[in-house]
Amino acid sequence: MKKITIAIDGFSSCGKSTMAKDLAREIGYIYIDSGAMYRAVTLYSLRNGIFHNGDIDTEKLKAEMNNIHISFRLNPETGKPDTYLNEVNVEKDIRTMEVSSHVSPIAALDFVREALVARQQEMGKEKGIVMDGRDIGTTVFPDAELKVFVTASPEIRAQRRYDELKAKGEEASYDEILENVKQRDYIDQHREVSPLRKADDALLLDNSHLTIAEQKAWLADQFAKVTAEA
Ligand code: C5P
Repeated sequence: MKKITIAIDGFSSCGKSTMAKDLAREIGYIYIDSGAMYRAVTLYSLRNGIFHNGDIDTEKLKAEMNNIHISFRLNPETGKPDTYLNEVNVEKDIRTMEVSSHVSPIAALDFVREALVARQQEMGKEKGIVMDGRDIGTTVFPDAELKVFVTASPEIRAQRRYDELKAKGEEASYDEILENVKQRDYIDQHREVSPLRKADDALLLDNSHLTIAEQKAWLADQFAKVTAEA
């Protein structure tokens, strides 16, 4: 069967990665979490004095973009890909609240987006890829055969994120998470370069009241429809 490109965009913490990852595994496609790439650049910036006291040293970051190598490797224990920054596994480090609360300003920088979009397009040039993010259907793969835009209410997304952190045994405050979710929504939707928006030809999925199993089934259905037509 001819391989296609699948773009899954949407707001933060709305279960995009879970459904994208599971679909990729089932159909034997590569899965790329583009948010992890923005998070890795943020982690690098925090650790190297580029993002300091609320200020970003953009000149330094620009000069160092070529030294920031991001890759993904399958973790045999979880069966999911882990993110590597300059050959070090940072999967856990990029999911902290500290990174979450600094990532949107980094992701709003035009030269960061340009560099990461180019790397993402390179990863997808052979098709057979499921990528999730904010601008995959609009900017990275505007010709993707299947585009989905996922949304859910901020309160439901914050609750899911809270449950996830708690399940991992991490300290979490629901109010702080809700504030972070709303703040990221705002910055992501209002930035100048590639703001978060639904591509005109994307299917809208509001999963506020769907279980994970239901959304997975929905996505598998859409994949079956598109590939039957191709
Ligand atoms: O998907 P995740 O929440 O991990 O993404 C972290 C942040 O990275 C988002 O809040 C957004 O600011 C940025 N991002 C982006 N474009 C993408 C993926 C993520 O701007 N394609």
